[in-house]
Amino acid sequence: MCSQCGKPAVAQVGQLLLCVDCLYKWQQVMNAQFAHQASLLNVMAQLTELHTGFAVPRMQIPEAPGAPVTLNNIRLDKSVVGVINTGEIAKLDLAMSRIQTEGNAELSKALREFTQAILDTKELRPEQKNDTIEHVSFLATQSELPKDQQQTSLIRTVMGAVERTVTNVGALASLWQVLAPMLEHIA
Ligand SMILES: [Zn+2]
Repeated sequence: MCSQCGKPAVAQVGQLLLCVDCLYKWQQVMNAQFAHQASLLNVMAQLTELHTGFAVPRMQIPEAPGAPVTLNNIRLDKSVVGVINTGEIAKLDLAMSRIQTEGNAELSKALREFTQAILDTKELRPEQKNDTIEHVSFLATQSELPKDQQQTSLIRTVMGAVERTVTNVGALASLWQVLAPMLEHIA
């Protein structure tokens, strides 16, 4: 039993038995402590370099374990987790929610349907899916910017890349026909 909360324990840390949740929290605390110490050492390394002119190796600071991803618009099948870039999906999912809140329900819906079809199709390779998700995420983010801050030529290039990927994939091509005109309006 977890020594902290009484749920079933999955691991022992020193004398303590911990459940999954408490183990996750403990790892985050350890990670943060290590990252903090490593960043202090790196600052010292930098100062030493400045004073001596000799290169000093830096500590590699580990990435914190990702928080469990919560998605409100997109369904992520377990089979694609580990294959698909879930960070980018989470970013895109958030953008959809914001676009919806900002009052463009139509664009939010078209983004959602296209993205879901990209994830679900068996006709694209994982790297094509990842590229396209990244592209759609870029387009969604650009659509939220005022016109004079949008990267117009990049938007066109990215749209061209998406178009080429999906043009021969039946269901995707027709969903893109719905989404593309809305995105053209942003540029
Ligand atoms: Zn616990």
